[in-house]
Amino acid sequence: MKIITKSHAAAMKANLSDYDDFCSKFHWEGAYDLLEGLPNGGLNIAHEAIDRHVAHGLGEKTAICWLSKGDSRREISYAELKDETNRFANVLAALGVHKGEKVFTLLGRVPELYIAALGTLKLGAVFCPMFSAFGPEPVKARMTIGEARVLVTSKTLYKRKIASWRTELPELEHILLIDSEDHSGEGTESLGPLMAAASTDFSIIRTEPEDMALLHFTSGTTGRPKGAVHVHMAVVAHNMTGRLALDLKAGDTFWCTADPGWVTGTSYGIIAPLTNATTMIVDEADFDAERWYRILQNERVNVWYTAPTAIRMLMKAGAELTKGYDFSQLRFMASVGEPLNPEAVIWGNNTFGMPFHDNWWQTETGGIMIANYASMDVKPGSMGKPLPGITAAIVKTSGDTATEITKPMTIGQLVLKPGWPSMIRAYLHEAERYRKCFVGDWYISGDLAMRDTDGYFWFVGRDDDVIKSAGHLIGPFEVESALMEHPAIAEAGVIGVPDETTGEMVKAYVALNPGFEENDALMLSLVGHARKRLGPAVAPKEIVFRKNLPKTRSGKIMRRLLKARELDLPEGDISTLESDEQ
Ligand code: ATP
Ligand code: MG
Repeated sequence: MKIITKSHAAAMKANLSDYDDFCSKFHWEGAYDLLEGLPNGGLNIAHEAIDRHVAHGLGEKTAICWLSKGDSRREISYAELKDETNRFANVLAALGVHKGEKVFTLLGRVPELYIAALGTLKLGAVFCPMFSAFGPEPVKARMTIGEARVLVTSKTLYKRKIASWRTELPELEHILLIDSEDHSGEGTESLGPLMAAASTDFSIIRTEPEDMALLHFTSGTTGRPKGAVHVHMAVVAHNMTGRLALDLKAGDTFWCTADPGWVTGTSYGIIAPLTNATTMIVDEADFDAERWYRILQNERVNVWYTAPTAIRMLMKAGAELTKGYDFSQLRFMASVGEPLNPEAVIWGNNTFGMPFHDNWWQTETGGIMIANYASMDVKPGSMGKPLPGITAAIVKTSGDTATEITKPMTIGQLVLKPGWPSMIRAYLHEAERYRKCFVGDWYISGDLAMRDTDGYFWFVGRDDDVIKSAGHLIGPFEVESALMEHPAIAEAGVIGVPDETTGEMVKAYVALNPGFEENDALMLSLVGHARKRLGPAVAPKEIVFRKNLPKTRSGKIMRRLLKARELDLPEGDISTLESDEQ
């Protein structure tokens, strides 16, 4: 039964029991109907994202609205995007790149990044984006694991991050520079002239649903990043979850603030918005509260998808900054990447007149799995409920068996039943690491969570981050959220440190909001607040002030690094570490 053709709007308006009914009848096969497939058979993400819309009369519509760091603005229509991505596919073909080979990018959020991504997919090659802020080592490590054949980058990034080890990767045949008009030598080529000479005609190479399309490295929050392999079929999930969890509708203006160097910036910063025929905003610049409010207003953003770190920075900048802006076009706001503190949900409601809708997923899941939908009451602090077609559960694992925990609000492993289209197919060259993700019938996420009687899921912490103190399991998220309720706290990171009597004790690192000073009086007030809010068993025994907390490029607090430093242990893989002011 192909229930999915039932209008999405109807599902969104449905009350919760209808919604549950909708979920129970949902079939992923039905979701295929919303896509077209290639004219010659097979399935290709880029066809669904671009060419299909042009063929159906949407060529003039703006696909990408690009805002440069220097405040220029460029609109790229679906027709133009089709031509440019065709050119790029022709450039790759002329260089002898074949289906299945890996094309990497090391670029800021510039149009060439998006053109390279979709042009690569048109050729049937595999796209692998890297954060432009990565240093030479992380870049080299990823390109080695991924057996990069082509890299698209800029002159400066090449000089700073590649030149010193260029000759060590012989299989890296082509380095295309987007901003060099001359042939610059040193084993690089200029993309501009190659693009200018390339034809705008290209027939998308037939790819099958199970052909590899994307290689995405995980954020490296818990250790060495893993190369997650995704296939063309993932587009079914990107498209559908964009509708269901982000409320995307054709014609919307959508802004996902994530960089494609992190999976969110590809699944929801390229594929979901384009396959749903929206106009997507791409901002080249880094976070800036006023700039963001200006973009939301001036670009008349309807749907906004961002991350807890950014929301906390907006909160830190103060709600007064929003005064005078008109956000009346904004219809839906969502957040992903880390637990969203209840404080932030409530702040969103007070500031924008609607809550941030938290949703949960991972590089491995490829798309949103658990979400607060438009039709649901948002419970601040909860990640929401599983999407249609997704079976999630809380289990206790022991050896090769996983036993479901049905008692509400009991902590266990958050697991998923494999079978959704955007599920990873492998960690590249790490079969054993991939195998360890499964116990019995379940995919083990590595996160701990609880489910309440209404079926909402509550994030507790990463398996490795959970603190065992005097027989209690304490989730860092709960402690951090309680600390954030104090007006002085902008962000908090909580870890467990060994303690003779309790096993582990709770220790917190906090960064302050502007206008607050690190002093004894504030410390007393914080300790008092935490004890009152959490009780003496769970409240931190020690609180340390910091300028900010160590985070990954994708904005996640690296608790394992706080802990390693506390215990004088090796720092482990810190290739994705970003801000780290003590
Ligand atoms: P690594 O796997 O390399 O340690 P990572 O898990 O941070 O890095 P990602 O795949 O980018 O890499 O992040 C997924 C993880 O982010 C989830 O497993 C979860 O721990 C966290 N996360 C994402 N969204 C949420 C959310 N809404 N609430 C709580 N945690 C979230
Ligand atoms: Mg992970």
